[in-house]
Amino acid sequence: MSVAAVPFLDLPAQQAEIADEVLPVLHAQFAAASFIGGSEVAAFEREYAEYIGVAHCIGVGNGTDALELSLRALGIGRGDEVIIPVNTFIATAEAVTVVGATPVFVDVDSDYLLMDPAAFEAAITPRTRAVIPVHLYGQTAPLDRITPTARRHGIHIVEDAAQSQGADSAAGRAGTLGAIAATSFYPGKNLGAAGDAGAVLTDDDTLAAFVRNYSTHGSSTKYVHDRAGQNSRLDAIQAAVLRSKLRRLDRWNAARRARADHYSELLAEILEVRTPKVRPGNADVWHLFVVQVDERDRVHAELGAAGIGSAIHYPTPLHLTAAYGGLGYSAGAFPVAEAAARRILSLPMFPHLTTDQQERVVSVLARVVARG
Ligand SMILES: *Cc1c(COP(=O)(O)O)cnc(C)c1O
Repeated sequence: MSVAAVPFLDLPAQQAEIADEVLPVLHAQFAAASFIGGSEVAAFEREYAEYIGVAHCIGVGNGTDALELSLRALGIGRGDEVIIPVNTFIATAEAVTVVGATPVFVDVDSDYLLMDPAAFEAAITPRTRAVIPVHLYGQTAPLDRITPTARRHGIHIVEDAAQSQGADSAAGRAGTLGAIAATSFYPGKNLGAAGDAGAVLTDDDTLAAFVRNYSTHGSSTKYVHDRAGQNSRLDAIQAAVLRSKLRRLDRWNAARRARADHYSELLAEILEVRTPKVRPGNADVWHLFVVQVDERDRVHAELGAAGIGSAIHYPTPLHLTAAYGGLGYSAGAFPVAEAAARRILSLPMFPHLTTDQQERVVSVLARVVARG
């Protein structure tokens, strides 16, 4: 029996929803050749800062730059150590490397696959300057436990909020919980642009001024350069797209939550599939719906052959990648992340996913896991 295909992600459905609102703005920008800076960028920065609940939002070129700029703003560089979870997208580590500091990996907890607070505490050395908790898959990292430890040791908290636009926790909204936060508006994120984009969020006037200045060639007045900085800006076109999607973000996140609940109901009887858990106090925005199964590679391949999109976030814990193999960690160093990496599978999850599509995903998945 063959069933209609279900994509892993349906971005064209999002684009169709905003087209009537955004296309006239894009036409006007194109005609006026108004591409860098301007009113759409300023308006988006104001609206997103208000949505998250911080004093400052600085739009930048992408989420990786946002992380790098956040670390630079805190003065982190050569000789410093920055603690990060080993189960994350490589950008979290790259930002640390780019500023000249050393990433120190720690394991995740087995319930939520978020940074393990005890592992964080154990990894602290006199050179630790910052920790980057990652709000992975759409749920807030355990800042209620990480923050007191970080405070006691004088360690800065830089949030990686790329997967958590709108996520809440008992400690507050993701993006408001550290000294500074970085987010990404890569098209597939919960709030995605029509290309690369990102932002830095902070309540601190000094950090915000640094990021604004550094990301514009170290300049606050044209051709007056206070330092050698970089060029990382949010384009006006991206700002227009983001403003339109931001108006829909709460509705889209609620739609993701309803789909996550429905998956959990549908999968409850299928004992071969472990469904994701939400940490008490968290309101998850379900960037990804990550189940765990035995024989994951076979399941992934057979779903694909049956037209059901799925993905792996992430197949290789960072210490086992070629990029970070040189840091000297060996296989077995992070047993929870390593075991999870063999079992995790992200199912289709997006606001426009239909009940019918979800039921097809689950019926094919049930069939595939039963063959194991
Ligand atoms: C997407 C992502 C980033 C990087 O964002 P880009 O905009 O692609 O540079 C960083 N961290 C995490 C956890 C991400 O998912």
